[in-house]
Amino acid sequence: MTALDKKDLHVHTPFCPHRHTDAPLEAYLAAAERAGMAEVAFTEHAPLPIPLERTQYEENPNLSADGVDAYFAGMQAFREHYTGPVRMRIGLEVEYFEGCEEKTGHILEAYGPRMEDGLISVHNLLVDGCYLNLDYRHNIIAAVKAVGARKLGEIYYRTLIRSVTADLGPWRPRRVGHPTLLGRCGRLFPEFYDNLPVMEEFILVVKEQECALELNTSGVLYPDDCGQIYGEALLPLIQKHRVPVSLGSDAHEPERIGGGFDLPVIQENLKTLLPVWEA
Ligand SMILES: [Zn+2]
Ligand SMILES: [Zn+2]
Repeated sequence: MTALDKKDLHVHTPFCPHRHTDAPLEAYLAAAERAGMAEVAFTEHAPLPIPLERTQYEENPNLSADGVDAYFAGMQAFREHYTGPVRMRIGLEVEYFEGCEEKTGHILEAYGPRMEDGLISVHNLLVDGCYLNLDYRHNIIAAVKAVGARKLGEIYYRTLIRSVTADLGPWRPRRVGHPTLLGRCGRLFPEFYDNLPVMEEFILVVKEQECALELNTSGVLYPDDCGQIYGEALLPLIQKHRVPVSLGSDAHEPERIGGGFDLPVIQENLKTLLPVWEA
């Protein structure tokens, strides 16, 4: 069985509108090989289920419908000629916007048959009829000002619960991306980790829905504001309830693939975590 730290199951690609580099796909596979990865899941951002104007994004960070077709075609064509040792899965990171379940179901209907893997990720929270975006620290800080840190944490975990219980159809992704994304500012607002009952409720729902959680190492890229991997705050509950996990770097550039997989928090827990492919 492949060890957890040999599969990076959350990697972006040259097709990502907000990629950090214009490096070609070859460079991603070469970097994965150098990092000792046996497998990489490419999970490009699926189209937003709502108009851009209803979000806090200034530019669309996600693929357009045409972009998705180009992505699948380009990735599949690359793989046909790839002879290296890294196994490639081609999938999508699908957005969960509360209230947009039907549209999200249609997106999954359209792309599900081509998806070999998928993440369901919450980057936006519905608060008082508006979608608050969690990708940027200033947005999180503004959201805390609006509703308070403890309440925002509660809303976040309630939204995660909905993301795994929503009826998104047969193609719904079963891995939850970066399940403490709010911790992007967790050092500023420790109250985000303060609500154990709702966090445990979320863990139990994940288990019951036969889903899995991602431990996402990109949180450590923000040492002052976050300083831990996404999912770390849930580790005691993940262990207690034997919830399956995968590791993801969320790399938007080749050099980041497998990044952080050597961190003590991962290495010290490797033997007691249940990899999603063994669940
Ligand atoms: Zn991205
Ligand atoms: Zn994400």
